Amino acid sequence: MFLMWFKRNEYITLVLYEPYMLLIFLYGSKKILNFMKRTKIKQACMSIAICFNNKDPKPWAETLRKKLPDVEVEIYPDIKDYETTTFALCWKADRDLLTRFPNLKVVQSVGASVDHILNYQTLSEDIILSRIVDDNLSADMFEFVLAGIMSHIKRFDNYGLYAKDQQWQPIPYKSIKDVTIGVLGLGKIGSYVASNLGALGFTVKGWSRTPKEIENTTCYFGEAGLRDVLQSTDILINILPYTKQTEDILNAKNLKQLNPEAYLINVGRGEHLVENDLLDLLESKYLFGALLDVFRTEPLPMDHPFWQHEKIKTTPHIAAITNVDSASEIVISNYRNLQEGKKLLNVVSIADGY
Ligand code: NAP
Repeated sequence: MFLMWFKRNEYITLVLYEPYMLLIFLYGSKKILNFMKRTKIKQACMSIAICFNNKDPKPWAETLRKKLPDVEVEIYPDIKDYETTTFALCWKADRDLLTRFPNLKVVQSVGASVDHILNYQTLSEDIILSRIVDDNLSADMFEFVLAGIMSHIKRFDNYGLYAKDQQWQPIPYKSIKDVTIGVLGLGKIGSYVASNLGALGFTVKGWSRTPKEIENTTCYFGEAGLRDVLQSTDILINILPYTKQTEDILNAKNLKQLNPEAYLINVGRGEHLVENDLLDLLESKYLFGALLDVFRTEPLPMDHPFWQHEKIKTTPHIAAITNVDSASEIVISNYRNLQEGKKLLNVVSIADGY
């Protein structure tokens, strides 16, 4: 006996030969073809899908196509075949978009954070979630917060306002050695920021979930540790990831513990800040001012009170932007590691949320 098949268009013809019998089956069924296609995916070239909102996908597509010439790199919504995609590169992708890729193995954030994935996508248990860890991000973040700190302690904002009315009015300033900085979040970025601020001569206190030892920084952890950090801080810098545990952490109860006329710098996520609490604390002069780079709604809505507030400086989520050239090396390593069955870089704990 032997069995053979051939296909033409969507039709499959099976020829089953036995000495006493010849049967021909004609199926108009796409199901059989789809089954065969799925089983072939493992050997076929896997493709990468770029799924972005609020970020230009072209520089990523160009870089990946140049560095991975044999790989199909597609930009959502121009996906030819959702079934062959095993690797998705994401930034604020449409809600539940990833469920359309039945063979997805890796979801790669193009930023340091993964809240934009965990809060908007349903990931199956076997998905590997990875993020970008890059020295460029830490260095850029340090420079951003340093600019904010120096502008605040040397009172540049006040002089900016005075200049509008041609007011020549010196005001007291602070020196680095007299300023205590609290850093919430001592991860890859926060620990770099804390130790470099400490090296410049600031007194730095840092806070994380688990105990840490970081150069030039006194480290605290847990709830009691948060109190210790807040109670002696002149400038609070938030570099936490956004999780259920850290949401709304910049609230009136916590911010009222800071030193009088403290300054807030939020480069974590908008969801960390209770916006009305900040407005109340600025009004009642508990806080001196704030520099905000991240917001609950981005772009910041036109009618949002933060835009016009004299004591609030806003920047459009630019504190530390992923460098496509260096970060693409991580993506490429992860893509290759997936193909070769090796461990991926910067894998995120989905249970912890960061
Ligand atoms: P990371 O390496 O994952 O570090 C996160 C830090 O937060 C860790 O120290 C962690 O403590 C601490 N943490 C998490 N949950 C906590 C909790 N419940 N209580 C106390 N500490 C907690 O992250 P990263 O790479 O440094 O990035 C941090 C965040 O910066 C990102 O998630 C993103 O939101 C933000 N970011 C913003 C920009 C921008 O342009 N504005 C750019 C890049 C990143 P353990 O060390 O004990 O685990």
